[in-house]
Amino acid sequence: MSSKPKTAFITGITGQDGSYLAELLLEKNYRIYGLLRRNSNPSYGNVAHLRHHIDFVFGDLADPACLSMYLAKIQPGEIYNLGAQSHVQESWLQPLATADQTGLGALRIYESVRNVAPKARVYQASTSELFGETKIVPQNENTPFNPANPYAAAKALAHFDARIYRKSFNLFISTGILFNHESPRRSPDFVTRKVSLAVASLKLGLKGNRIPTGQGGRPVINADGKLELGNLEAQRDWGFAGDYVEAIWKILQHEAPDDFVIATGVAHTVEEMCAAAFEVAGLNWRDHVVINSDWVRPIETGPLVGDYSKAKKLLGWQPKTTFKELVEMMVRADIARLS
Ligand code: NAP
Ligand code: GDP
Repeated sequence: MSSKPKTAFITGITGQDGSYLAELLLEKNYRIYGLLRRNSNPSYGNVAHLRHHIDFVFGDLADPACLSMYLAKIQPGEIYNLGAQSHVQESWLQPLATADQTGLGALRIYESVRNVAPKARVYQASTSELFGETKIVPQNENTPFNPANPYAAAKALAHFDARIYRKSFNLFISTGILFNHESPRRSPDFVTRKVSLAVASLKLGLKGNRIPTGQGGRPVINADGKLELGNLEAQRDWGFAGDYVEAIWKILQHEAPDDFVIATGVAHTVEEMCAAAFEVAGLNWRDHVVINSDWVRPIETGPLVGDYSKAKKLLGWQPKTTFKELVEMMVRADIARLS
């Protein structure tokens, strides 16, 4: 006798994490509903290859009516709220939109769950950016939050409300405090992908409009043939998104709702990441990188490094992909893609 498939509702399905999570859940035979924003030209983003296996519903985290309508109708067992304006630097340019989509968007999900689908398990995508200007290293679930940008402030609202709704209304709302995780599907707004695209462009000798655009819609290589970066000293704990979606799924399978740090526990500077990426292509980063203050942030975070021992103990999760493997995967994928 075959059992009824589990049902998941995913916001942010077109993004990096949405796509890896959808692949994982399809392998596990879930029926997936993905919230897709209605644009004049519908785009399936990173899930174009899965579009025949996902039930898309058009909507927006800005619209509580559509969220309630879909959740009442679908009654998903699991809801993964990955949708957000997810870029830190952009959040200084669009602080109100970020607060609305990234902060209030989560609250609209919790309210809809409370009203029409109280049995659903909810995953909220929290972030290491919550620790912001911290001096405590590494950070775990008990480290105080000290947000340093409008994105982190919006995520703080979503995180605290997750805990408040969990306790006040006995809802199963869990959070994953995920440290930076990357992949060949990462948006070029983020430094790792900007670098991997630039390395691939230089390796292949791309010129003019064959050079891909990245952060801020600008070509990843400038008119002088250089990659422009901001703060090279900033430290991040970079993991592979494919590993992290396994943690996301495990968080919702846990017996009780809770908060979990997901990280590798190893920090690298932007300069180290850059050096590793250029090395994959047999290039020296010093010959190709210049600093542009446009990419330096008004406030930088402290070194963000996660202590994932709680997830290891309670979920049996640990990262599989090393920093070197991750950087190599991204550079090789961009060389193949642009060739
Ligand atoms: P991403 O690639 O930027 O994807 C963001 C997704 O959110 C896209 O599918 C986007 O849809 C959707 N979205 C944006 N605004 C929306 C709205 N108003 N209504 C519905 N959907 C909306 O992000 P990601 O890297 O996969 O990250 C997933 C989540 O984890 C995000 O919440 C992010 O903030 C959080 N997070 C990420 C990291 C990381 O290192 N990647 C670390 C910690 C936390 P469109 O395609 O329509 O734009
Ligand atoms: P974030 O941690 O979510 O903000 O991820 P990013 O990949 O956008 O940034 C990681 C770190 O790289 C931050 O400390 C940035 O200040 C630093 N950084 C240095 N140069 C750049 C750049 O050119 N673009 C981006 N996005 N970040 C940069």
